[in-house]
Amino acid sequence: MNQEKLFTAFVYGITITGLISICYALVFLETEGLNGSSIFLIIGALLITSRLTLSLPRSNSHLSFSDTMIFFAFVFFTGELAILLAVLEISVGCFFLKTKGVVFERHALMFNVFSVATGTGATLLVWKSLPFLGLSNDYMSTSNLVTSLGILALAQFAFISSLASSYYALKRGQGFWSTWKREGFSISMTQIAGAGLAGIAYKLISYGDVLTIFISLTILGVAYLNYKQLFRDINESIEQAEQAEREKTEIARAKAEEVEEHARQLRSLLEKEEEISRDLRQSKQDLEYAAFHDNLTDLPNRAYLIERLNLLLQLGPDVARRYYVLFLDLSRFKNINDSLGHTIGDEVLRVVALRLRRCLRDEDTIARLGGDEFAIILNDLSSINEAKSYAFRIYDHLTQPYVIQGNKIFSDLYIGIAPFDHEQLKPEDILRDADIAMHSAKEENNSVAVFDKQTRSKYLEYIRLEGDLRYAIEKNELALHYQPLISLKGGELIGFEGLLRWFHSELGFVSPGLFIPISEDNGSIIPLTKWVLREACSQLQQWREISDEHDDLVISVNISGRHLADKSLIYDVQEALDETGLPARCLKLEITESTAMENAERTIETLNEVSNLGVKLSIDDFGTGYSSLSYLHRLPFDTLKIDRSFVLNVGENGEDSGILQTIVSLTKNLKKEVVAEGIETEKQLSLLRDLGCDYGQGYLFSKPLPSSEMETLLYQKKAWLPDPDPASESDRLPSEISEIPHRYA
Ligand code: C2E
Ligand code: MG
Ligand code: MG
Repeated sequence: MNQEKLFTAFVYGITITGLISICYALVFLETEGLNGSSIFLIIGALLITSRLTLSLPRSNSHLSFSDTMIFFAFVFFTGELAILLAVLEISVGCFFLKTKGVVFERHALMFNVFSVATGTGATLLVWKSLPFLGLSNDYMSTSNLVTSLGILALAQFAFISSLASSYYALKRGQGFWSTWKREGFSISMTQIAGAGLAGIAYKLISYGDVLTIFISLTILGVAYLNYKQLFRDINESIEQAEQAEREKTEIARAKAEEVEEHARQLRSLLEKEEEISRDLRQSKQDLEYAAFHDNLTDLPNRAYLIERLNLLLQLGPDVARRYYVLFLDLSRFKNINDSLGHTIGDEVLRVVALRLRRCLRDEDTIARLGGDEFAIILNDLSSINEAKSYAFRIYDHLTQPYVIQGNKIFSDLYIGIAPFDHEQLKPEDILRDADIAMHSAKEENNSVAVFDKQTRSKYLEYIRLEGDLRYAIEKNELALHYQPLISLKGGELIGFEGLLRWFHSELGFVSPGLFIPISEDNGSIIPLTKWVLREACSQLQQWREISDEHDDLVISVNISGRHLADKSLIYDVQEALDETGLPARCLKLEITESTAMENAERTIETLNEVSNLGVKLSIDDFGTGYSSLSYLHRLPFDTLKIDRSFVLNVGENGEDSGILQTIVSLTKNLKKEVVAEGIETEKQLSLLRDLGCDYGQGYLFSKPLPSSEMETLLYQKKAWLPDPDPASESDRLPSEISEIPHRYA
């Protein structure tokens, strides 16, 4: 049976026993004992005593005088009356308490009534068995009265407290004993006090002395009021103490709540801060990743590679010598971008990255330097041969065709390998060495090349000259030297070739054979030629004024292929003529045969434009450039200049003169003029004269000279043809180069 059912059964059980008890009392009530005074007593008891209650401190119980009346009824009247009195009194008492605001639990009111009836009924049974315990009903005997009332009080206390405790225990599901201690024990006070008062009342009434009764009642009244006041004070001070305690608890609770709230806020603040710092950490990581990675291929970038190389350099040569740096450059990648578009170009780069990852080990570092350039650090190898075999493996993987969006793309690449050495101080040094090796692979058209120190010094020299050349004009380091062109028949001066000279402020003389290709590579040849054109035209214009004989002199200026392909050439030529006032017919442009044949159609077009200005044209170094005769026929040139190698090879016995003969005949047939350059000996001169060559240029007549020296010779009206005395020939060997520092000659 569950607790709720047990409780209900208990309440019903007590109700039934209570009803039995009440019925019994009604049936067996001895009415003859009930006179006017006893009825007055009952009514007085009901009206007065039930209202005279004292609230017991620290308890829910109220000390009422009803128990006095009940015990009094036992000893003065009968037990049955006591039952009814108890029932009536509890009913009225509860009613008064309710009007005072006391709240009763559900069933509590009904249970109170029936449990009092049951309890008092049970006490009646004990009362009736008192004679069996040897106690007479002579209550004039004080000991008899005290003992009987004592037993009554204990019995009533035991029954009432047990019933009340059982009620609460069952209702609240608590243990009986703990409930009894808490709820039931305090009732003992009521019982004992009630029994005491009943005894006193019995004695007073039994003596029948009105004065005594009056004095006793007065004393009792005063005592009651005092007690009431005392209990009220006690209750009030307890209430105050409890209130203070409650307030203290409330303050403590509020404080605890406040602390808890602070703690909560702090927690959430910390959580937020943690979240922010997590976000910061994350974004820092993202930024770091982005700073060190290439976002197209997701490979490490140049910055990452530099860091890594730095680390290796710090570890020292013993560790670093087991590492090799590879520099990769995809050839024809620009073509892929130009012809198939950048999207496909990007995809090719991604696949390249993927293939590199596949054919290398995890510990190797692969980085994209930008564009189509990649660099790799190969870790922990035993020899350069191992590095080479990795390079060839990379070459094989990367030259497999790329199939992207239906396009089959072929790509070639060059790989340079650089080992670490003690001359590399910065990460850029080793990277530069690998780059140099890659360039030498490119120049020699090999897939893989290993760095060597000679290449490095050439490269460093190249870089230096390239840089310095940009400022050569500004720094006044350039000069134009003039080499005369002579009529081989009569020995008259017909003009000059302007040849550029660079006197480097630190390095001394730098040969045009060295710096002209560099300036062609980096494009600075165009501004340089502009300067040369202006210088040459202005100089000849001055010299033309020396004598009428100089009227038809022609100045030849060398034009590079790069300038020929540039639209600015015509403007530059026109500008030089306009600024100096030199007639167009006095200017001749020299274009090497190989340059002229490189893009023949375009060259024909440009040279026609130049020719239309009235400017003359010469094909330089003829015989070295594999001319197509059909193109040669269409080129609007005036002069062919035989390369000096053909002149040089003309020996004592006239060997190789066949080629010279052919070139001279060809020119005659084309109705052009022919010039031989590099004439150094009189034998060469006489042979060329015999072959019918019109003009000549060479050390035999004059080395290229600075303008001032040439001007002196012009004023002196120098005879250019050599003295026929053979002894003087060796004296005329070239002197220009020997006069200037030789380092770059
Ligand atoms: P180039 O146009 O064929 O010039 C003739 C070269 O032959 C010059 O060398 C000249 O000094 C040299 N030479 C002349 N006679 C003799 C000789 O009897 N024996 C020997 N051994 N050499 C002789 P240079 O001045 O060193 O010029 C070399 C090349 O540099 C020129 O060849 C030309 O292609 C280029 N160059 C020089 N100045 C310029 C310039 O202003 N513009 C351009 N684009 N190229 C220039
Ligand atoms: Mg020339
Ligand atoms: Mg030449």
